[in-house]
Order: sequence, then structure tokens, then C-alpha cells
Amino acid sequence: MSHVYLMPLGRVAPVILEIMSRAVVDAFGLGTRVGHGVPDISYAYDPTRNQYHVSKLLMEIIKDPPADAMRVVGIAEVDLFLPIFTFLFGEAQLGGKGAILSAHRLHNKFYGLKHDPQLFDERVRKEAIHEIGHTFGLIHCFDPVCVMRSSTYVEDVDYKSIEFCSSCQTRLNHSLPGKKGLFG
Ligand SMILES: [Zn+2]
Ligand SMILES: [Zn+2]
Repeated sequence: MSHVYLMPLGRVAPVILEIMSRAVVDAFGLGTRVGHGVPDISYAYDPTRNQYHVSKLLMEIIKDPPADAMRVVGIAEVDLFLPIFTFLFGEAQLGGKGAILSAHRLHNKFYGLKHDPQLFDERVRKEAIHEIGHTFGLIHCFDPVCVMRSSTYVEDVDYKSIEFCSSCQTRLNHSLPGKKGLFG
């Protein structure tokens, strides 16, 4: 139960999996594996919204995870939604096993701006750490630069740092494997 599985949802550029893998090692000290993912995500597509239903994707990746999967993290390049939200950068089970992240709105080109590989890399790492942080029991944080601060727009993602504030870091340390603690 020691690996974080990265699950491509549909077509995903390999560079995104590399960026996420680095983020998982840096922030959580955990190793990653790339799983089979969900090659055909058409079942989650909503033609009236031209978006994909995030919960339908999340349910698929957690229903039969690999035996050595501590966490399963889906990664999509398509746009995600929930009925109550216009769009979502991602979704996670609080204190659970699964999380989903979309890189769709983390690309500068989505906003009609020039591609910036370094900025994209940073955004993917922040949002991956944020969503996986939820699976370790971390809730949204009011520290303006903590990575667990919720982001509504990409500007919010850019404003916050890639680090946990000291309070979130302490909680996380108690939840990480091998550490005895409050959140188990
Ligand atoms: Zn969140
Ligand atoms: Zn925090």
C-alpha cells in the first residue's frame, strides 16, 4: 500500500505525469506509479456543457484500485464540472483514497496567453499537492499563500505558494504513513 498511482483519464501528455510524480515525491515523500487509468472517458462527457463529470471519473478510478495503491490520482486534460460548479480544477475524497486533477485550465493557452512551461509546471504541482492534501485529511486553509487555500480562478493558483503553511504541514505529518497521529 505504498504507492501513489497516477491514472491518466483519456489522453494525457506524459510530461504532466512527470510533473505530478515530482510533486508527489517532493511534498509527500511517496513514490508514484502510472496505472492503466481510464482510456475511454466518453461515458462521463456531458454534451450540453462540453465538459466531463468529475464524480463519474473519480468513482471509476477508486472502484478497483491496484493492490499496492495507497492513493489513486486521476489526471485529465479535459474540462471538469460538477452540476453546482461552472468548472473544477480538481476534486478529492477528504481523508479518502482518490483524487482527480484537470490540467485543462492550468494552461496559459486556455486564457489566450502564450504557453509558459515553467508556470504550467508550477500550477500542476500546486493543484496536485492540493488535491492529494485533501486525501490526507487537509481541509481548505485560510492562510493566503498556503497550498491548501482553495482556488476559484487560475490567478488564485498563481497567488498561493506551493508550500503547506506550518499548521497544514503539521497535520499532514501526522497523517502520512509511518507517522502516528491525529488523523490516522
Ligand atoms: Zn480543495
Ligand atoms: Zn494551510
